[in-house]
Amino acid sequence: MTTTLGQSPLTEERRPDHRTDPARPRVAPAAVGGVEVHDTVAGYSAALDRIRRSGLSIGVVPTMGALHDGHASLIRRAAQECDVVAVSIFVNPTQFGDPADLANYPRTWQSDLAAVGHAGGRLVFAPSVAEMYPDPPGDDLAAPVSVPELSGRWEGASRPGHFDGVATIVVKLLAAAGPCRAYFGEKDFQQLAVVRRVVRDHSLPAEIVGCRTVRDDDGLALSSRNVRLSPDQRRAALALSRALRTGATLVAAGEARGPVVEAAMARVVAAEPLVDLDYAAAVDADDLEPAPRCDGRRPVRLIIAATVGGVRLIDNLDPFDPPRAPGRPVRAEPAELSLR
Ligand code: AMP
Repeated sequence: MTTTLGQSPLTEERRPDHRTDPARPRVAPAAVGGVEVHDTVAGYSAALDRIRRSGLSIGVVPTMGALHDGHASLIRRAAQECDVVAVSIFVNPTQFGDPADLANYPRTWQSDLAAVGHAGGRLVFAPSVAEMYPDPPGDDLAAPVSVPELSGRWEGASRPGHFDGVATIVVKLLAAAGPCRAYFGEKDFQQLAVVRRVVRDHSLPAEIVGCRTVRDDDGLALSSRNVRLSPDQRRAALALSRALRTGATLVAAGEARGPVVEAAMARVVAAEPLVDLDYAAAVDADDLEPAPRCDGRRPVRLIIAATVGGVRLIDNLDPFDPPRAPGRPVRAEPAELSLR
């Protein structure tokens, strides 16, 4: 499929459907604003194979589009550490339980392409749903990927099947990419744990790189979903990062009891009527089990999820290493803990 920036974007509607139109010829990928765009697994895999054969290393950044500076930070880091960066843009239907959430997911193809090029990406892989899931919609995959140990709690409890969809699409995307470094955000902390486990258990030839969360100046973690918040809801959503900061301040001040830290985080959210808390927890950073103690002997993560005006938001923080500014690691000092 050929496309030109500003003329014929590969929107979901216009991408070729190779299931319903199997005879459609596959044509050479297009260079769009300096970015090479592929919409078939075969074309994408062959392109990355050619790049590797020429001796260059590959970094991949899987995304669902609606790119913001959090995504761009992953692309920039990949570009620093790898010769060629490929960004996938695919709104994966199997990780959405709620059809309305899938339908409302923002799609910003043209600005995404520009953002990829600007951040240093050279290839985009933007397949159609039929390309990734050739069986008719609703038919279950015969070989889905699942990590039950890490998927049952937290996001998994509120979004049944979500991490099976994530694990499955990550295997498919990494299988298409071949040997690479793959960059994922700590913003989706449970997802990162699931991905690491899938890659390890399936011996996928990818090195997973976890990247710090990028935040707005006021502390709100960047998310593609933030555009759906009204100004009032956006202000209320700051309760999430405020709660994490409160929890981290307590831990830094010596409070080691996980349940006490959790209760303090929950109180911060309860004070904000527009925010409906799902969970605020201190968890073991490796297995995501509840952490009874936050005393530095085991890595701990503070995690939080809430709904604001029907928009689900998640965030998390390392209480022993909270950021002061986006992407800037800072060791915690009790008196100056801040997400800014
Ligand atoms: P998504 O498009 O939401 O699936 O996200 C694609 C990748 O970007 C995932 O690895 C996310 O964890 C990562 N990501 C999303 N938001 C941020 C953020 N604010 N900072 C850093 N990485 C992020």
